[in-house]
Amino acid sequence: MIYIHDLIEKYLFCYFSNSFFRHKVTMIKKIGISIIAVFMLNCLSSMNKKNENYFMMEGMKISKTTLKFMPEFTKKNIREIKKNYISEMHPALEVRENSIEGQGVFSKREIKKGEVLVVFKGYMISRKEIELLNEVDLNYITQFDENLFMFSPIREPGDFFNHSCSPNAGFSQMEKYGLVAMRDIKKDEEVTYDYSIEGNYPDETWKCLCGNYNCRKYIKPDDWKITYKKYKGYLSPYIKKLVKKLPNNN
Ligand SMILES: [Zn+2]
Repeated sequence: MIYIHDLIEKYLFCYFSNSFFRHKVTMIKKIGISIIAVFMLNCLSSMNKKNENYFMMEGMKISKTTLKFMPEFTKKNIREIKKNYISEMHPALEVRENSIEGQGVFSKREIKKGEVLVVFKGYMISRKEIELLNEVDLNYITQFDENLFMFSPIREPGDFFNHSCSPNAGFSQMEKYGLVAMRDIKKDEEVTYDYSIEGNYPDETWKCLCGNYNCRKYIKPDDWKITYKKYKGYLSPYIKKLVKKLPNNN
């Protein structure tokens, strides 16, 4: 398969080695063209990297890493795959492009407080198995417990809920693992939750881009210690467990 950046490389090689142009094109133009070319090559190689991470099956985009956990995955019944690995979304929700972080989940109509927004589905992996994931896959894991994570093998709508420091969703307290509306959600509003109420993995600090008036600026592993009171009744089972272990907690 010939990628576009290979063609650009070939074009640039011909361009600079041609004696007619060598004397005509000024150094500034050459530098300018080189900068644009390097920028384009970087963009294309990151796009290729993302696409190379997947294979297509029955119209579904599946992470190749899935085959490390389940070598028999491609032989599985499609209906069972969809049932087990594609999250159950509220019918009024859809993925749109113009969100805080590129893609995000938005509401097509008003949703009332308390309505179930999503029941997450995925493949359970241990902390040790996280080592089998690559940098793209790492964006699609959810912490379930200290050593238990849910990996999303198929790119599906449940993967695109973004973080916000002023969210409208929190964890459901029912048996099924998912999100509920913490307040009424307006039409065309993005549905977000505070990642601090899900887990404390990874042990890294990220810059927050939510831009809300009360933005914490950074998302840190121990943020749950400062947010758990605010989100009482909407914490994930794992964060509830951590809160119980806090000294003087009542
Ligand atoms: Zn924020």
